Amino acid sequence: MEINASTVRRYDEWLIAITVVVVALFIYTFKPHTGLEAHQDRLSPIEYIALPTESMPLSILAQSDSVDWRTVENPVNLGMLNDTQWFRFTIDSHGETQARSLLEVAYPLLDNIEVAYFAKNESQPLAVYQGGDSLAFDSWVIKYPSMLFPVPATEEPLHVLLKVQTNGSIKVPIRVWEKIAFIEYSSGLTLLMGCFFGFLLAVGLSNFFFFLTTHSNVFLSYTCYVFSLTLALSAMNGHAYAYIWPNWVWFEHRAVAVFANAAIMFAMIFSRQILDIPQYSARLDTIMKWGSILFGVNVLISFILPYGYLIKAFLVLLCLVVMFIFTSGVWLSLKGHIAARYYSFAWGIILVSGFAASMDNLGIWVLPMPSNYLLMLGATVETILLAFVIAISYSQHKAAVNASHQRALIQEKDALAAREDLLALQKQHQDDLEYKVQERTLELEIALRELSEANQELETLNSIDSLTGIKNRRQFDKRLLAESRRSRREQTPLSLAMVDVDHFKAINDTYGHTAGDECIRHVANQLKVMLRRSSDDVCRYGGEEFGIILPNTDAEGALQVLESMRVKVESTPVVVDGKVISMTISAGVASTVIAYEEHELKLLKFADAQLYKAKQQGRNRVIAQDYTGD
Ligand code: GH3
Ligand code: MG
Ligand code: MG
Repeated sequence: MEINASTVRRYDEWLIAITVVVVALFIYTFKPHTGLEAHQDRLSPIEYIALPTESMPLSILAQSDSVDWRTVENPVNLGMLNDTQWFRFTIDSHGETQARSLLEVAYPLLDNIEVAYFAKNESQPLAVYQGGDSLAFDSWVIKYPSMLFPVPATEEPLHVLLKVQTNGSIKVPIRVWEKIAFIEYSSGLTLLMGCFFGFLLAVGLSNFFFFLTTHSNVFLSYTCYVFSLTLALSAMNGHAYAYIWPNWVWFEHRAVAVFANAAIMFAMIFSRQILDIPQYSARLDTIMKWGSILFGVNVLISFILPYGYLIKAFLVLLCLVVMFIFTSGVWLSLKGHIAARYYSFAWGIILVSGFAASMDNLGIWVLPMPSNYLLMLGATVETILLAFVIAISYSQHKAAVNASHQRALIQEKDALAAREDLLALQKQHQDDLEYKVQERTLELEIALRELSEANQELETLNSIDSLTGIKNRRQFDKRLLAESRRSRREQTPLSLAMVDVDHFKAINDTYGHTAGDECIRHVANQLKVMLRRSSDDVCRYGGEEFGIILPNTDAEGALQVLESMRVKVESTPVVVDGKVISMTISAGVASTVIAYEEHELKLLKFADAQLYKAKQQGRNRVIAQDYTGD
């Protein structure tokens, strides 16, 4: 997801503004509350010596110069020493009663501390107090997060002997307070501490609620990180022991290590998520994973081994991890990861403060202010900046999601439009197709009609004799079949006549074939005009022979028709090429009611036989006979 330069500039301005305001506020508020304005002028230089416990009576240690005391700067920081350390110093009374004073050892993580007050040249202590977190907090002489001891009521200077034994750093910041001044200092400090932890808790809680509503794991790991950090810092300041587990000595010795390791573990998990490390580098991702597992194991080990054994290893690891996370952030921000830019800045701050605090704890470089305050400053700035990073990253992801959602919407719209186009095209094609089909159907219908007309024409042509124009033999056969069925069905008599022109060969021979054809045509016409009923039909049977079908006509009626025809032909000669040609015809007529299949063929044969008879009897005559044969 690209972000434009002006947005980056705006983020940068915000970031710098936040950092400056937080650091300024911190310095402004904490500087007067670090305890440096305590009444240090009443303290003599502090001397210390390392000796086995209880090796000498307290009084000798306090007063004797026979042992080799060494002077040390206050606030005392001897680094990691496991031996018992003895400190001595004098509190001057300035001629007033010491009862109004308090002695503070402002490092609450010391395991065992014993304070003994001696008057000058006295071997018996005026008072002895125990402290340190090996003692249940409720047993502390003054229940205050950093260790406070009363000062005996005397107007004389007091010799103080301090016995310190601890597994961690020997840090013994010694302060002498006027009670009123301490109340003033402490009330301000308490308020600031309340604000600080309240702020961390609020950030943690709000991120936890973000997690609940968004289900984004980065909020959860950040919440765990903030809570672990808060607990680690409150354990370091003694507040946790004072207010959370005041009698749980066993846990007090492990709490700082447990929570500090947990904070680093969650920081690594959180970093892996916020920097999208799996997307950028598989190797870096593996290191991050194993790093967080290592710190997870450290958390478990911290429960078993006390703080002192782990603290050195932990501080080294902490430096390494912070530097590693910081470099990863820088590397990713160089690669253009915008959240990584602010992320590395945030870690840069904790890097500097953590590094300084570690140096201070190891006694390498003594800070001008208590290192836990510096860590608090680093943590505050970092927590704010990381919250800022989460906000940027979340808005970036949201913008990316929105953009992809927008893209998806556009794609969906395009797809819909394409589908509509396709549908329109399909419809268009379908319409075209339907139109074409209709067109083709119409064409086909026309073609079919034309074909049927042609067929009809052909049929007509087929049924007409070309020479005479009357029906041909084929048509005669068809009609004969049709009429015979009707006769059989209706039980009506059917008459058939076979007509033959007499001596036609001679006509052909005399006048030629063309004239002969003319004569056949003439006879056909004469026969046709003599037909009386529409159902009667005359067909050319072949040559100069004609077949006549007379439905519903008995032999008598048929004889009359044929006789009239014979007379007509005889009395109507034809003129061909100026020559008058007279002709006669002979006819054989047969009648019957058709009774069975193919009865008509026998009837036809019978008619032919009658024709033969007519020819035999001298021609130019008609012989009609009912056919009674079977
Ligand atoms: P008959 O009185 O016994 O019928 O004597 P005919 O000469 O008519 O004898 P027939 O019927 O056996 O002969 C028919 C003759 O008609 C034979 C043939 O030369 C002639 N003919 C047949 N068809 C045609 C035709 O289409 N045109 C012409 N010009 N002559 C035909
Ligand atoms: Mg003939
Ligand atoms: Mg003939």
